[in-house]
Amino acid sequence: MKLFDCKSDVDLYDMQDWHEALLWIFAATVRYCKQNNLALVITSLRSDRENVQAVSSTHAENRAIDIRTRDWDLPTIHKLCYFLNTNYSDWGAIGKKSGKSTVCLYHNNHIHIQVRRDCRMERYLKQ
Ligand SMILES: [Zn+2]
Repeated sequence: MKLFDCKSDVDLYDMQDWHEALLWIFAATVRYCKQNNLALVITSLRSDRENVQAVSSTHAENRAIDIRTRDWDLPTIHKLCYFLNTNYSDWGAIGKKSGKSTVCLYHNNHIHIQVRRDCRMERYLKQ
């Protein structure tokens, strides 16, 4: 089983420009999906296909990815969001309206994963 798959027009070279924290969160998402036997499919990196007004510049700044949920049931979707929001709450992008830190949200039939610009990375490496 592959770790993940991509929609055909997703350019994986865009990962080279990712915010570092997004790599960690993506790795956690890969692990989570593997453990729960879920197919992980990236549907968008740089561009926000859905043109979601509320989530701002995170895609354009390489701080967000979208993943496919059409083969997942609702509890599965919410469990992944809960897992990421709980474990990486200090890295979530801050909502313009809510002022809340959010890493993972489900909207417009996909999961949007995002990080803030200034994430502290130190705790993820053993000294
Ligand atoms: Zn998105």
